[in-house]
Amino acid sequence: MKYRYSPQRDLIYKKLKESKKHLTAEEIHKLVKKNDPQIGLGTVYRNLGILADQGMVQKLTLTDKALYEADDRPHHHLICKHCGSIKNVYAPANFKCVKCLEFVRDFKVDQAYINAYGRCSKC
Ligand SMILES: [Zn+2]
Ligand SMILES: [Zn+2]
Repeated sequence: MKYRYSPQRDLIYKKLKESKKHLTAEEIHKLVKKNDPQIGLGTVYRNLGILADQGMVQKLTLTDKALYEADDRPHHHLICKHCGSIKNVYAPANFKCVKCLEFVRDFKVDQAYINAYGRCSKC
């Protein structure tokens, strides 16, 4: 689907990209409001949906809240169950762990992304 250019959407994307983080729609809303005090949370949600449709933003369901990120490099996630911090791990697509999917029959796995839950070094 084609979408018309929207300066608000552009701002949402830039803020998320700059943050280099995994943020909720509410957190993104707070960042965007610094530049555009009029913007509503509904607008942020709608535009995040469009950005996800366009493949500019990933919508993640790693925790109980949907998180968004604008990092297009393939990566794995290390998620701390105690403080909720999320670390990106960049590994090549032929990551060894794909081998652990050998039980998959009649399907050739090229790449797999791992969400690993545990405890971070600070906790
Ligand atoms: Zn932690
Ligand atoms: Zn990530």
